Amino acid sequence: MMRRKIVAGNWKMNNDINQGLELVKGLAKEIDAKNYNAEVVVSPSFVNLAGVVSELKDSKIGVAAQNMNENVSGAFTGEVSGSMLTAIGIEKVIIGHSERRAIYGETDALLAAKTDAALANNLEVIFCFGELLEERKSGNHFDVVTSQIEKGLFHLEASAFDKIVLAYEPVWAIGTGETASPEQAQEMHAHIRKVVDAKYGAAVADKLPILYGGSVKPSNAKEIFSKEDVDGGLIGGAALKVEDFMGIISAFE
Ligand code: PEP
Repeated sequence: MMRRKIVAGNWKMNNDINQGLELVKGLAKEIDAKNYNAEVVVSPSFVNLAGVVSELKDSKIGVAAQNMNENVSGAFTGEVSGSMLTAIGIEKVIIGHSERRAIYGETDALLAAKTDAALANNLEVIFCFGELLEERKSGNHFDVVTSQIEKGLFHLEASAFDKIVLAYEPVWAIGTGETASPEQAQEMHAHIRKVVDAKYGAAVADKLPILYGGSVKPSNAKEIFSKEDVDGGLIGGAALKVEDFMGIISAFE
């Protein structure tokens, strides 16, 4: 089964507009000159989305927001709605990143509501989840991940999954330099696909891209991405430099 392959760079709270434009100019020069077998996405902070979209208007590189609010509009000071994103040409949004869950207390129920709001705006959702170190050590990682997916997404109709990409990001591997082994990633991704298959059937599960995230770098990308159920990556630190990010994308040369 040939699934979509995706490499997405989550910039987090890094890069002002000048740094961001320099980075995407460097990436576009390489990516648009060649045919990689993966979609490439960058995810700048809210304030830099419009500038990056405008810079990439003739590029194959996609742009995702890192978050959005679950409401349509109104008295939510400091928040950004789905329609504000689509109005500036954004087509994708990351929902449920572990930093949103851990630092900002985003619950499964809130993330389900954010997913609904994103889909109502026809945004593609990169839905993130993953277990803590203690949960893996105690052997609960499969149950934790199953529960995050069920609570975040299993209220959806099967057809909604055309606009869903999953990102398995074990929290112990994010920004730590520690990576899940290719075997650990494959084992979890196969589990995730089985859980989706049991609920929605093979037609949905087989075409659903499942990305891995957690300290992916040029030196380990190819081996992780070569696993059958790993359809690319969500990249943090190594997405901030043209050379590093290209070193990862070139796994899909
Ligand atoms: C992430 O933030 O999604 C991530 C995977 O970060 P890093 O690659 O830096 O571990």
